[in-house]
Amino acid sequence: MTKLRRALWAVSLTLCFALQAPTAIYAQADLNDSDEFFRRTLPAGPQRDYSQRIEELLKRMTVEEKVGQMTQLTVEMIAAGKDQNIKIDPAKLEKAISRYGVGSILNVFDQALTVDRWHEIIGQIQTAAAKTRLGIPVIYGIDSIHGANYVQGATLFPQEIGMAATWNPELMKRAAEITAIETRATGIPWSFSPVLDLGRNPLWPRFWETFGEDPYLASVMGVAFVRGLEGADVSSDNHVASSLKHYMGYSVPLTGRDRTPAWIPENYLREYFLPTFETAVKAGARTIMINSGEINGVPVHVNRQILSDILRDELGFKGLVVSDWEDIKKLVTVWRIAATEKEATRLAVMAGIDMSMVPLDYSFADHLIELVKEGAVPQSRIDEAVRRILHVKFELGLFEKPMPSAALKSRFALPEYRQVSLQAARESLTLLKNDDNILPLAKTKKVLVTGPTSDSLISLNNGWTYVWQGSEESLYPKDRPTIRRAIEEKIGAANVTFVQGTKITRRAGTPSNSTPTDQEEEVDIAAAVRAARNVDVIVLALGEGSYCETPGNITDLTIGEPQIKLAEALKATGKPIVMVLVEGRPRIINRIVDTAGAILMAYNPSNEGGTAIAEVLFGDVNPSGKLPFTYPRTPNGLINYDHKPFETENTSFGNLAFRPQFQFGEGLSYTTFAYSDLRLSKQTISADEELPVSVTVTNTGKRAGKEAVLVYVSDLVASISPPNRRLRRFAKIHLEPGQSRTLTFKLRRDDLSFIGANNKPVVEPGEFDVKVGSLSQRFTLR
Ligand code: BGC
Repeated sequence: MTKLRRALWAVSLTLCFALQAPTAIYAQADLNDSDEFFRRTLPAGPQRDYSQRIEELLKRMTVEEKVGQMTQLTVEMIAAGKDQNIKIDPAKLEKAISRYGVGSILNVFDQALTVDRWHEIIGQIQTAAAKTRLGIPVIYGIDSIHGANYVQGATLFPQEIGMAATWNPELMKRAAEITAIETRATGIPWSFSPVLDLGRNPLWPRFWETFGEDPYLASVMGVAFVRGLEGADVSSDNHVASSLKHYMGYSVPLTGRDRTPAWIPENYLREYFLPTFETAVKAGARTIMINSGEINGVPVHVNRQILSDILRDELGFKGLVVSDWEDIKKLVTVWRIAATEKEATRLAVMAGIDMSMVPLDYSFADHLIELVKEGAVPQSRIDEAVRRILHVKFELGLFEKPMPSAALKSRFALPEYRQVSLQAARESLTLLKNDDNILPLAKTKKVLVTGPTSDSLISLNNGWTYVWQGSEESLYPKDRPTIRRAIEEKIGAANVTFVQGTKITRRAGTPSNSTPTDQEEEVDIAAAVRAARNVDVIVLALGEGSYCETPGNITDLTIGEPQIKLAEALKATGKPIVMVLVEGRPRIINRIVDTAGAILMAYNPSNEGGTAIAEVLFGDVNPSGKLPFTYPRTPNGLINYDHKPFETENTSFGNLAFRPQFQFGEGLSYTTFAYSDLRLSKQTISADEELPVSVTVTNTGKRAGKEAVLVYVSDLVASISPPNRRLRRFAKIHLEPGQSRTLTFKLRRDDLSFIGANNKPVVEPGEFDVKVGSLSQRFTLR
């Protein structure tokens, strides 16, 4: 077992039970200490023993039936028609369920469906499964990434990158609870979320699917997501199984392009990329999905050390391991690690894959049956995989209640869920610049709203929204305001002029690495400039369209040229500009950053985002988000906050000092917060002692506000060159004007250790700094 957070799992049962009951409406509880959150959200609930029933079933199963359980197909394999016309095709269903005994189905083809359509589809699948010899239910899996996004009318939340910017894990947990309720309401008991990859390279098109660049923040948020989805009793109608993904090291391909090679030495793999998975496994996650890529030349789908030695032996994961899309085939077609698909199947199953997301043919089952019959894959390995799959099905209650329940429809899309989404959007919005307090704007101002993301629900949501790429305008709700509409509602349409300026559309045909998905064009820049002359202020909404996975690869992180042109043209009018960034990754804006007096980062705040943005712009809500990543200044200035200290200094060899556009953790408020009295209870400690750290935060401004307090530790000298600082704790608190609060955090051994050259955690004596705000205190570790 690696170093992480072992101590945290020492339970306070009282606290644990106090928090298990999901409250109907999100209560704005303050988080006093992120560490406390781990302890509060420990796995609880019934530990039922299904081993006897599983063993009885296993004894009766043929090799074919077992391999069927390990096979996952996409829904189009059992359907006729697509989108809203999708229907189960009885002949295809018979082949999948009766002939092959397929254990799992996934996905949409290609559009989100209503709850009723889901009931029909899941009902027909489970009816067919019930008629098979052993009647084993099918486990249907879906990507509920930011809400139940493949269900029409579901509550959608900000994408993970925005949830991270809230620094509010209670809010993340509540959002995940709602996601679970609305997913389960369709009859689907399994979600392929959360994404626990780290967003450390903004070129990577799945950046917005992550909780940002820091392993600790992402671990806290990941645990919140898992506990929200799985709850205390995953068999209940309120919960679904989670799937941690993409285990591990998927997010930092050398080129930044999706599914290209990564080089990650084992000490850094363990230091940065393992912790999110480790904490979520400890939080009880039932399933895990594997990284599609390769690390150091070894595709993770055949990496025994990662899939078995670390995951099973070290972390103690007992759940089910599912491959990602077509990834056994890709061992042949992409990675060339095997000459034939049959050999690839053997390698992946022997390395630890329990279920293959095949998902478009029966090749996996055919090959694996042959391999077992030839003795190339032992029966015992098949039994092990099937045990895990059956165990998850039992835990989810599928043997007792395989059919979707009509009663659950009444819990779908309740108005209070929407309030939680709105609250999340509000708390995610991150004010990065506010010269001369240009924000908040008076509601009497005349405003020009312009820019490619100003009137677009697609940009507010990004991918995994009603369709994979998020790009199907017709599926978006008609009653949710874009930024433009929300501003019109707030200050009256008569005070708002809208001119689009430039637009982002999707390029027709299959995107490739040389032709990115987004296509940008000027629309009416001259008209925007003319309109600007008659207003008091310009709200310029820039950013990106929608994209997901490989189609979102780009060749340049700079924001689109037409947007730069629009910003520059508007600047020439001399009117004040408020820039709103609606984007899934930080696009470079250094050429136009000075055009704007204020900059509000919105990430992808989803359907309530327009409302939340208008509330912040006009002062009804005080922003409290902080950046969960480092915003680069230049396309080649990609670096994270936990860089080596010298990287920000002008060294003797003329190093170009690292100056990001905005720092990790940056985020302004309409009030001001002062930090004082940073105190360590001791100046010298031993590794097994706790170190209480306290700090006082005061609201020194005139408005109530929330502040995320971030606690960093720097190890001054270490045998692996130490990072500048590491985030070790945080807390998000509410303070009235003039109010002060003293927070106490307890640092422990884990917070002072790192993965050493031998790939094991080490704690080295010496000096450390604790930093909060601009305060710093030093202590010595004996
Ligand atoms: C993605 C996964 C997703 C799966 C099923 C893959 O392409 O990488 O994140 O869960 O498809 O939709």
